[in-house]
Amino acid sequence: MECRPGCGACCIVISISSPIPGMPGGKPAGVPCIQLTPDLKCKLFGKPERPKVCSSLHASPDMCGATDEDAYQILSYMEDATRPIAAAEEESAADQSN
Ligand code: SF4
Ligand code: SF4
Repeated sequence: MECRPGCGACCIVISISSPIPGMPGGKPAGVPCIQLTPDLKCKLFGKPERPKVCSSLHASPDMCGATDEDAYQILSYMEDATRPIAAAEEESAADQSN
């Protein structure tokens, strides 16, 4: 499938560990990439400095669903499911101390 213009879910929801120009430590989950334009396009599209992980991520029904809302939900689920255990434990400990 083709990427839906104006979605941008994968540039916001998921964490990216490789450096991104302007975000040398990568991007945390839930934070819009600094290279995302206000109309949700990648400023680095087609440029060599675009992270490899971004170039290799292709739109698919499994990831993107049928609507932008689907994509946000599916990617949030995937992000939670693949989060390193240490990070999940840290968050759980923080929740319990509140
Ligand atoms: S989640 Fe899918 S449709 Fe949305 S921006 Fe990413 S690749 Fe495109
Ligand atoms: S570099 Fe481009 S494709 Fe990658 S997360 Fe940022 S805006 Fe999205």
